[in-house]
Amino acid sequence: MFWANKVAKEIIKSGKYQPFWVDDMFTPSGFAHTGSLRGPLVHDLVFRALQAEGVSVKSTYVFNDFDPIDGLPPELADKFSPYLGYPLRLAPSPKEGYKSFGEYFTVDFQKVLRSLGVAAEFLSSWDMYHEGKFNGVIREALDNSEKIQDIYQKVSGSKKREKGWLPFQVTCEICQKLGTTRVHGWNGKTVRYTCEQSMVTWAKGCGYTGEMSPFDGNGKLPWKVDWAAHWKVMGVTVEGAGKDHSSAGGSRDIAKAICEEVFHIPNPYNLPYEFFLIGGKKMSSSKGLGLKARDLTKLIPAEIGRFLFTRTDYRQAIEFDPVETMAIPDLFDEYDRCWNAYITGSDENLSSAYVMSQIDKLPPKKPVFLPRFRDVANYLQLANIDLVQKFTEIKKDRLTTVDLDILHEREKYTKVWLENFAPSDIVYSVNKDIPKETADLSTGQKEYLSEVALLLEKKDWQAGELQQELYQLSKKKNIPVKEALTAIYLSLIGKTHGPKAAWFLLDQDKKFIIERFKNV
Ligand SMILES: [Zn+2]
Repeated sequence: MFWANKVAKEIIKSGKYQPFWVDDMFTPSGFAHTGSLRGPLVHDLVFRALQAEGVSVKSTYVFNDFDPIDGLPPELADKFSPYLGYPLRLAPSPKEGYKSFGEYFTVDFQKVLRSLGVAAEFLSSWDMYHEGKFNGVIREALDNSEKIQDIYQKVSGSKKREKGWLPFQVTCEICQKLGTTRVHGWNGKTVRYTCEQSMVTWAKGCGYTGEMSPFDGNGKLPWKVDWAAHWKVMGVTVEGAGKDHSSAGGSRDIAKAICEEVFHIPNPYNLPYEFFLIGGKKMSSSKGLGLKARDLTKLIPAEIGRFLFTRTDYRQAIEFDPVETMAIPDLFDEYDRCWNAYITGSDENLSSAYVMSQIDKLPPKKPVFLPRFRDVANYLQLANIDLVQKFTEIKKDRLTTVDLDILHEREKYTKVWLENFAPSDIVYSVNKDIPKETADLSTGQKEYLSEVALLLEKKDWQAGELQQELYQLSKKKNIPVKEALTAIYLSLIGKTHGPKAAWFLLDQDKKFIIERFKNV
């Protein structure tokens, strides 16, 4: 059974998570990296699987836009350093047309999520705090500060915090920073706080000490408490997190203990999902390593972008390194395999992976012709090849409108791949002029080329037959096969290697090839 369906059945069967409410969250402090898509997609897939079971279920995605800015992407580091410590919704937008820093990155990620078919309702943590929805949990947390400290200590083994510590931060009335304030007094109505100069390394407070209400958006709970508070305020019953948060004694365990012991609600169903790795490393936006989420659908169609996360069980790491590898063609191949399983009904697990990757409605279960991505890449690079004609030949039948749409879409993404990601030994195109690399050809190699030209002139060849002849000819001329073929590739594409020679030659304009070999 497909993994998300299995999870949905387990959630329902346990009888513990009603009403079903799936939630996930994200801090919009910069452009999300592709790895950040795993959370929202895992949750969206479980949401869809629950829907497929016929139960009533809600799905939300919270933007933690009340969080302070605690670091900046390199390109914003200079201009925005004065705003370090500000809540994301109070710092200005890096680009005109958005009300705040937080809104700018929120809107960007929302577009990405929608393009990948994520159906969750989007919510803003800032808005919920300012609407007073958190007032109750704020009071509970402030009244239970000792208990919360005990939980931190018991679960994560951290040292007992100082006396008078309170699980809350306010936005400083003087400097508007949140990340620098320490709350040290609570009388049931107001909190006393100090905006400290050196509480954190990444922002400097103004030194002000004041008193104000903690309610209605004046401040927020620290994140592990905040996380559990969201579950209570919203009524979340299913929410996972990356496995780095889900390790024993980690933040998920602390949030679990807080929701059970402080907020007195059941712990939501957890989905400790594995990492998304690029080149074997965890993708990290702070190091500037890896792809931004907003770029993913520039490389691959949205369904295949979604498929990247759908195909792999959430408990297994996803490795995706598209740069100078066959990762993208492989992904297309796997998608085609699942598409075929959907059409033929041959494998339920693969078929579900296809179904769950669709963004709009499901196509009918009719046979379609799926041109292999790597074949499109190959033919696209050959001179004088008409893709439609070529694939009509391969299909041995006329291409339908659906076939043509698929082919044209693949053509579009193949071009992107060839230009940006394909390994250099895959990219070949016949040079318009004689490549300068031919200067190094030996006399033997040049003679070989003249003979190949004569061979081509002789008749219309079948590829297999011509390949044999090319081998025979190298023997006859007494040069190693490898050197012979190198001569062909160098004089056409300026590289020592290329596609299978006879097929490659026959795919080109014959006259052009004959002339090129003679000129070389
Ligand atoms: Zn201040």
